[in-house]
Amino acid sequence: MEVPLFLTKLLSEQYEKEDLTKILTGYATRRPVTFRANLLKTTAKDVQSYCEANGIALRKAPVPNAFIAENAREKELMQTPLYKNGDIYLQSLSSMLPPFLLDPKEESILDMTAAPGGKTSLISALSGGKAFLTACEKDKIRAERLKYNLNKLSVPRASVLVQDALLLDEYFRFDKILLDAPCSGSGTLEEGTTVKTSEKLIENSVRLQEKLLRKALKLLKSGSVVVYSTCSVLRSENEMMIEKVMHDGICELLPCNLPFSVPKLPSPENTLLVPPDELYEGFFCAVLRKK
Ligand code: SAM
Repeated sequence: MEVPLFLTKLLSEQYEKEDLTKILTGYATRRPVTFRANLLKTTAKDVQSYCEANGIALRKAPVPNAFIAENAREKELMQTPLYKNGDIYLQSLSSMLPPFLLDPKEESILDMTAAPGGKTSLISALSGGKAFLTACEKDKIRAERLKYNLNKLSVPRASVLVQDALLLDEYFRFDKILLDAPCSGSGTLEEGTTVKTSEKLIENSVRLQEKLLRKALKLLKSGSVVVYSTCSVLRSENEMMIEKVMHDGICELLPCNLPFSVPKLPSPENTLLVPPDELYEGFFCAVLRKK
């Protein structure tokens, strides 16, 4: 995997040498497969027992109820009854972070850009199946996958809207929103994979992210929070996006309080920037409260 020159240049303009080296080293690793027990259907203990009995070596991940597969890749795990029944969901550890920041309860939650549903289903599980979920997805094919996954993982109280989130009726008001924004994927580069990040994709992502984040703030009840996340390590998609909407004075930044610790790169106060490393994809999160 070769990091495109434009990306190395962009990163070297944004990061101190030490952090740049950390990112580039993270890009050059091959992360193990990680997954979580789907607590809507089973327990972490049962998942662990099944794996032990079937020769799948596991390590507990720092994220609650998540595991690192030590001797199996996606293909092998996808053959197991655990996967086929929806007892586990293959997901990167970074992708599990935003639902924890949302701290979901029995309340109305919009997952604005939801397919394939990894975060929607985790939000549901963390709320003990109590959250009332609206999962919005623009892409029809990806929305089919979202419906399939929510059904397979037995996610209750969820409805799927196949539409452009930018066109959601502003009559809606949600208690909480997750905006896991479409992004350049600059945090996800990994040895043995193809690089999707391009200058054009960054430009298009930035434009769309701002529109979606402004829309999210309209759809929120006052005093409620939106969790904004990207799998990018570029400032234009992360902290600069937050600065843009904060500028209007309609929201404030809350601390990113996770109930476990994660590796961090320097980022503005109250934001969370995870570096790509041997376990995590590069990932950004911020929690904004509407005034
Ligand atoms: N949150 C998902 C998960 O964890 O499984 C991943 C979401 S992915 C980063 C972004 C998704 O946003 C893509 O499925 C994309 O099709 C969708 N999307 C892009 N623009 C959208 C829009 N205007 N309205 C709704 N969905 C959109």
